[in-house]
Amino acid sequence: MKNKISLKVIQRELKPQLETQLTNDQQNSLKKQGYRLVGNHSAVKTCEWTRNMLRGKGGCYKFIFYGIRSHQCMQMTTSMFCASRCKFCWRGKKAPVASEWYGPIDSPEHIINHAIDEHLKLLKGFRGMGYEKTNKKAVSEMDNVRHVALSLTGEPITYPLINEILKAFHKRKISTFLVTNSQYPEQIKKIDKVTQLYLSIDAPNKELMKKIDRPLFSDFWERMLECLDLLKTRDYRTCIRLTMIKNGPDGVSSGGNMCDVKGYAELIKRGNPDFIELKSYVWVGESQNFYKVENMPYMKDLENFMKELLKELPEYEYMRKHIPSRAILLIKKSLNKKAWINFPKFFEMIESGKKFKAKDYCSKVIMPNE
Ligand code: SF4
Repeated sequence: MKNKISLKVIQRELKPQLETQLTNDQQNSLKKQGYRLVGNHSAVKTCEWTRNMLRGKGGCYKFIFYGIRSHQCMQMTTSMFCASRCKFCWRGKKAPVASEWYGPIDSPEHIINHAIDEHLKLLKGFRGMGYEKTNKKAVSEMDNVRHVALSLTGEPITYPLINEILKAFHKRKISTFLVTNSQYPEQIKKIDKVTQLYLSIDAPNKELMKKIDRPLFSDFWERMLECLDLLKTRDYRTCIRLTMIKNGPDGVSSGGNMCDVKGYAELIKRGNPDFIELKSYVWVGESQNFYKVENMPYMKDLENFMKELLKELPEYEYMRKHIPSRAILLIKKSLNKKAWINFPKFFEMIESGKKFKAKDYCSKVIMPNE
């Protein structure tokens, strides 16, 4: 791989005494925002949808799309740094940028034990809340973490023991969603099994990707293409997520990426994912320095874009939508609308050690339509 920023450079720029991946300022601002740091390079933060479910106000779009029980979901990361500075990202400067790992490497067991501890500490307040304010059943189940979303911030996939920690989660019957920004093909190669792998594709062509993601790697486009080539060969559930940024009043030049449908279709065909998510950009945090509220697409905009995209992708079909999250799910027709995850089957097959494919743990949606 070309263009690796040398580790020495990064260390020189950061305070010499830094042990973790974060400066003291970054640590303090993250803690103020509800993050709990775990070890040298991991963090957890309660997802708003976990709280919502515990309050009896419904689960996240992944609950609707895939059956993820939001009240038993732990949102975390195993690496605080990222190799892109996406303009639509709400995190901004509190997330360090780097292209390769730096600092000590914590063991998977250490990370999981302490992450769950911190996660449950953050939820304990729900136990004291009156029943009128909570979903009693959900609160009684919240200690039993059944799902981890490795997304929160940074690039969790850069954790050198990513495969080992996924295995450790599965051993505890905790399903795993892993989100990556398509810049680390070498890390995807390391992964044996994950419940669902997400590739974020933020633009339909190289020029727009450079403009929107501001990637550190000069070979960013080739890295994304290699991630797509790897994606189609994986024997676990895969999803390509498109974060949709509506074009401003002067079209794409004012910041959007809802264009070049054929470009997106070519990339999606190359990755051949089981699922495609169209997810609205959300005008929050540091992204407000680059975009306006008008850059947030409405469901109508997403549906129109979906129709154009499906014309280029006849092997996919509409599956569901989640209006509160402005998210739409498309599914490969060969999966016969089996979008939900059969968790017991997934763990049973993992334990068997036998080979299995994504379709083997896909199941019919087990809840009424929206
Ligand atoms: S799957 Fe994602 S959105 Fe849903 S509860 Fe977990 S972290 Fe939140």
